[in-house]
Amino acid sequence: MKYIVVTGGVMSGLGKGITMASVGRILKDHGYKIVPIKIDPYINIDAGTMNPFQHGEVFVLADGTEVDLDLGHYERFMDVDLRREHNLTTGVVYSAVIKRERRGEYLGQTVQIIPHITNEIKARIRAVAAKSGADVCLVEIGGTVGDIESMPFLEAVRQMHGEEDENDFLFVHVTLVPTTTQKEQKTKPTQHSVKALRELGLQPDLIVCRGEEALQTGVKEKIAMFCNVRKEAVVSAPDTEDIYEVPLLLEKEGISAYITRKMQLEQLEQSKEDHAWEKMVERRKSRRKSCTVEKIRIAVVGKYAGLEDSYLSIKEALKHAATTLGCEVETRWVEAEVLEVEAEAEVEASFFDGFDGFQGVLVPGGFGVRGAEGKIKAIEYARTRKIPFLGLCFGFQLAVVEAARNLAGLEDVNSSELSAATPHPVVCLLEEQAGVVEKGGTMRLGDYEVFIKKDTLAAKVYEVHGVHGAARVVERHRHRYEVNPAYAERLEQAGVIFSGTDRSGLRKEILEIPATQHPFFLATQFHPEFKSRPNKPSPPFKAFLAACLKNKKN
Ligand code: GLN
Repeated sequence: MKYIVVTGGVMSGLGKGITMASVGRILKDHGYKIVPIKIDPYINIDAGTMNPFQHGEVFVLADGTEVDLDLGHYERFMDVDLRREHNLTTGVVYSAVIKRERRGEYLGQTVQIIPHITNEIKARIRAVAAKSGADVCLVEIGGTVGDIESMPFLEAVRQMHGEEDENDFLFVHVTLVPTTTQKEQKTKPTQHSVKALRELGLQPDLIVCRGEEALQTGVKEKIAMFCNVRKEAVVSAPDTEDIYEVPLLLEKEGISAYITRKMQLEQLEQSKEDHAWEKMVERRKSRRKSCTVEKIRIAVVGKYAGLEDSYLSIKEALKHAATTLGCEVETRWVEAEVLEVEAEAEVEASFFDGFDGFQGVLVPGGFGVRGAEGKIKAIEYARTRKIPFLGLCFGFQLAVVEAARNLAGLEDVNSSELSAATPHPVVCLLEEQAGVVEKGGTMRLGDYEVFIKKDTLAAKVYEVHGVHGAARVVERHRHRYEVNPAYAERLEQAGVIFSGTDRSGLRKEILEIPATQHPFFLATQFHPEFKSRPNKPSPPFKAFLAACLKNKKN
């Protein structure tokens, strides 16, 4: 087994996750089998209880594990399906060790960070690598070198480096090379972060330098000299308009040649190479440059509109759909609360203001009462003005509330998440959730089947019509509340259709308005954005964007 360990220096948010995902993509395109592991040094067991304001979106894996958004990058770039064991946190490691201690399995020893915690980390990394049957295991260590939290993990990989064969281990360090106002690129932050690494006994083999622009002549030599690496091991990774271009940029810098040589990776035949990614990036690039390409504008009405990372997978899923449809997509983030205070005419004005109109409304997932009424207003707006609408999870639940209020004519309708006292809880906790006390990992999480009704918009979206027995799809979930089955019939009589359900039919998964009434109105209890990939767009996103495109042409 070969291991590539990615660390980061200087500051967070440099794009370490994208670098790791890109290295994985490059190796995969050359025909190597890869497996990624993300280490998150926080004490949380998983990211499920974390506020998206601080950490960006919570990504959900097929098995229901709630993880850091970097795992979303891995899935999209490397086109892999990850599971719980691919994310290692301090919480997971320590709780395993403490449990073992309680069982007396350390036989009277004093349980310590070295060797017990580090052994646990090493064993877990090796187990995932071995089970995967991969050629290369990529490990990203979250945080910045020098943080207290990441010390045990850095120590564990230091030990592994000594235990594995010389050629089987490679350290990649992602760092920042800032440019001064005089346009001079500064190497000191990189020197210092490599120094911090070396103090921990780690010498990087490859240094990836992030910055606004490519490294100037002489800068590579300087970093090579001060950081004790070869010049070809200093890689320039400038900002780019399109994150999906990063694997190509790194490849241009000769990264795969360096890695395969240094790690003595067996040379694979050219026939094993895959160029689909490259072609996809080229398509996106030529479209960006073309002046005739249709540009679609989507209003995303959410609570965390100020921090786009909170809706990262949605942003990416829209891009994937646009790549396939041959258009460009621009997202306008609308803070839902703003719509609450504005009168109808002002809502219209603020929706359009400075944006030259938009062709679709998307209401994403969310929690809690803040901004909810604004989202409902946006849904009503899209429904009555016949603007293509896509609602996701909370967006689906609020579309149900909107329909119950304005189509079924019920009064004081709400979700019981938002109003405990409502006489009409059209969205509520189902029995299995009613007694749940612990918040972490207890929602309805991960992959579940959705059965699609014949001759509906949903059937068209998923292209399952007519195919006998195939009207079943699997999508990822993350919710506690659900449509109250007691109201389903009343809502359907009022004009909406529950076109997707679970096997029993009781649990509602998709809501739509018939195509005769609206150009495109679809909402899903699940999160289709988590399964979207650059070359395999999510069906609801693709259909939604296609409807927006049609809306624009009309
Ligand atoms: N708050 C809602 C629930 O818990 C929706 C969750 C979501 O949008 N992810 O069911």
